[in-house]
Amino acid sequence: MSPHPLALDILAFGAHPDDVEIGMAGTIAKHTDAGYRIGICDLTQAEMSSNGDVPTRMQEASAAAEALGLAYRSCLQLPDRGLRVTESHLERIVREIRNCRPRLVFVPYWQDRHPDHVACSELMQEALFNAKLRKYASDTPAWTVERIYFYFINDIFAADAAVDVTGVYDRKRQSLRAYRSQFEREGADVVSTPLNQGYLERVEQRDALLGGKIGVRFAEGFVSKVPVTVSLF
Ligand SMILES: [Zn+2]
Repeated sequence: MSPHPLALDILAFGAHPDDVEIGMAGTIAKHTDAGYRIGICDLTQAEMSSNGDVPTRMQEASAAAEALGLAYRSCLQLPDRGLRVTESHLERIVREIRNCRPRLVFVPYWQDRHPDHVACSELMQEALFNAKLRKYASDTPAWTVERIYFYFINDIFAADAAVDVTGVYDRKRQSLRAYRSQFEREGADVVSTPLNQGYLERVEQRDALLGGKIGVRFAEGFVSKVPVTVSLF
């Protein structure tokens, strides 16, 4: 069988463009540098965000994609603040998973102060299950991912796995700074949100805190519902 044209090593899903970058931009940069094919799929265009507009956010997402060396980025244009487990949302996501055939999938952790991140996590877990079923949306071949990891957005929980991202931390900063409409305070009509009140500094502190636990400068943490496979040496 010829390799699938898209066939990604990793596909990371977020509710909004910038979620994946907040949680795991360093892990992505580290693995694109090593030659892996990585994609991000944003479920919504974040059209309900207090600052910025959709065209700006799309440009910012593409600048972030470039900073991280992504092979692929898509937006399913599901409704912001309307992420629910519905048949049509599930089918759109299942088709995206089957189209990209990722080996590993990353989704938001199931607890977070933003309800869209929680909803994205739930929707993704349902979709990943359906993607395996050959009788579901049977006009596309079923796809089973090797492993699902959960990443953190706003809140800190205990990680089951940590990736040392010290060497690529500037690329994480660069990808996050691409979202100027979200993280910059300046500009007419900008309203104050948690994101433009020192948010990026707190992300960096969080990554430094986890890094400290594993003896490196910066690390990103992940959770797995099944034991993480390790090689001891
Ligand atoms: Zn978000």
